Order: sequence, then C-alpha cells, then structure tokens
Amino acid sequence: MIIKKADIETVAVKPSQYPETDIPEIAFAGRSNVGKSSLLNLLTNRRNLARTSGNPGKTRTINFYRVNDDFRIVDLPGYGYAKISRSQSEGWGQMIETYLEGRTTLLKVVQLVDIRHEPSAQDVQMYNYLRHFGLDGIVVATKADKVSTNEKQKCISVIRKTLGLSAEDKVIPVSALKRTGHEVLLEELEHLLAS
Ligand code: GDP
Repeated sequence: MIIKKADIETVAVKPSQYPETDIPEIAFAGRSNVGKSSLLNLLTNRRNLARTSGNPGKTRTINFYRVNDDFRIVDLPGYGYAKISRSQSEGWGQMIETYLEGRTTLLKVVQLVDIRHEPSAQDVQMYNYLRHFGLDGIVVATKADKVSTNEKQKCISVIRKTLGLSAEDKVIPVSALKRTGHEVLLEELEHLLAS
C-alpha cells in the first residue's frame, strides 16, 4: 500500500468529538516515548503529521488521521509516562478504554513496544485488553536500529514470550531512524483493510 494522502481530521478526548463512523480505523498504542509519532510520520511519509514527544507535556488526545480517504490511523495517547499524577493517568486510561470498547469501525490496534526492552507490565495489560476485544495480533518492535541483527531474534522472542503471543501473531521490527520495516507493516494494514 502506498499512502498518498494523510491529514489530521479530528482531535478528541470524548466520543462526541470522534469523527463519523464512515471508514475503518486502525489504532496505534504504546508507552509514551516508544516511538509512535516517529512511526506514524514514517508510515505516512510526513515529517510532522504526528508530533514527536520532545515535549512530554504534550496534550494527551486521541488523534484521527484520514488516510487516502479510505481509512483512518488513530493515534492513542501514550501510556506509562512517569511524571504525571495518578488521576491524570487514570483519565487517559479511561479515554483509551472508552475508544477501544465502543468504536464500531475499529479493525485492529497495532501495539508498539521498544525492541530493546522486555514489555512492561502496562504493555502486557494493554495487550491482554486488546486480546479480550479481539483487536490484538500485530505488534511493532520499535527502534530496531538499536540492536544488532544477531540480537534481533532474541529480543523478538522475549517480546513474544512476555506478551504471550501465538504463532500467527506478528511482530514487525521497524526503525523510523533507518526507515526500515514500515513496508512490511503497510502490507499488513492493507491485508487487514481488504479482509
Ligand atoms: P512517542 O512518544 O511514542 O510518540 O515517541 P517519539 O516518536 O516522539 O520518539 C521518542 C524518542 O525516540 C525520540 O527521541 C525519537 O527520536 C526516538 N526514536 C523514535 N523512533 C526511533 C527509531 O526508530 N530509532 C531510534 N534510534 N530512535 C527513535
């Protein structure tokens, strides 16, 4: 799939602000700083579509990007940012849950984890949640340039084991820095949208 057009459509914190349910959606979830904005910019070939988190205080919203006029990429707020209050964190958790539970046009959630680290308790919790709603199955291992080719398979095994993935679940290593792996992910998205 080639992304010819991608634009921000809506920024929402509650369902009344979501766009119409006219086209399918694929959401992206992950810890704050995992590299989600960088990945979305790479996928859409736009340098600044999603704001990278140089600024950790950036507003936490659900961002809807309209792609090629036939589907949406939905950027969920990053979780697990340490320097926030518990009530703020619960608020964002609730915002994500409300979207995941109620969104009829949501096809799948791509879960991002950092290739170098064992997935955190929150990553596992998120993935189990996705599994519960049948939204699981695609994991992106970000910052793949940070490990050697030799280490890569080992890191992926740790991710598979910790998240409890089954053989048919995909783990796709991607590097936004080296611009690798995104074509594999785009193929996967195309496949999803066609099914
Ligand atoms: P977000 O908070 O998940 O949206 O993460 P960002 O996209 O803002 O990235 C967080 C940090 O990781 C930034 O300093 C990025 O430059 C860095 N980063 C993101 N993707 C990569 C990557 O593929 N490789 C490397 N080495 N660094 C990355």
